[in-house]
Amino acid sequence: MLPVSPSGLPPGCTTRFAPSPTGLLHLGHAHAALFAAIAAEQSGGRFLLRIEDIDATRCRPEFTAAILEDLGWLGLRWAGEPRVQSACMPHYRATLAALQRRGLLYPCFCTRSDIAAAIAASHGTAAIYPGTCRNLPHAQAQARIAGGQPYALRLNTARALTETGPLAFTDLIHGPRRCTPEAQGDVVLARRDIPASYHLCVTQDDAEQGVSLVTRGEDLLEATDIHRLLQALMGWPAPLYAHHGLITDEQGRRLAKRDQAPTLRAMRASGMSAAEVRAAAGFP
Ligand code: GLU
Repeated sequence: MLPVSPSGLPPGCTTRFAPSPTGLLHLGHAHAALFAAIAAEQSGGRFLLRIEDIDATRCRPEFTAAILEDLGWLGLRWAGEPRVQSACMPHYRATLAALQRRGLLYPCFCTRSDIAAAIAASHGTAAIYPGTCRNLPHAQAQARIAGGQPYALRLNTARALTETGPLAFTDLIHGPRRCTPEAQGDVVLARRDIPASYHLCVTQDDAEQGVSLVTRGEDLLEATDIHRLLQALMGWPAPLYAHHGLITDEQGRRLAKRDQAPTLRAMRASGMSAAEVRAAAGFP
């Protein structure tokens, strides 16, 4: 059962499951994938699959292959070919260029330790990026770029908000929510090592794939404030959201690849049927 009343689900929702191929799927992924697929099915809509593989250092093609196989074994069917983020870099580059032309991005040369030191120097009052590079003179920034210094691109969140005004979104589980993206400071839209970031790719992909109901774990509720800001800046539609609860282990900790949560593969190898795994993931 979805934690959404059937009457709360608009007809014809396009949903998606968007895993990163950095490991094998576990029960938390099965819950997210089934949630999205069932919401699409119950609304008479479409369920899409997207592979979020921009981080070439952590993503591996064999995990993508395993994801497709595990989802198929669980009984999931998606519409069309999966969208693969690593094949969409020109899309993200075009958005970055557009935002840059509007003066909404700035290069940030800070390393992780620079940022930690600046936060420590603020006596912990600045828990977010303290804006060290926000007002670097243009010529100085250009000289550092020309000198080959690595940099990220950050969104000037305060300036962006002056363009968009206040923002909100509707969550089918959590209700109406007012956005406070400023609480997250100037987020990174292109990383030093990867020319795009999670926030940018996920928002642009959802817009370009026509996703009308974004379903994902409630650990990403805050991220949605940033995504609404990007949607408003770029003129992309505002989807509905459903941030669902997370599956936890016996100690109440959320399942994570890094903690070696039991994989769908291991469950299958132990003799569990797909129906039993679906039930364990909350969808009997
Ligand atoms: N790729 C993200 C993850 O594996 C989910 C993306 C999203 O739903 O926003 O957590």
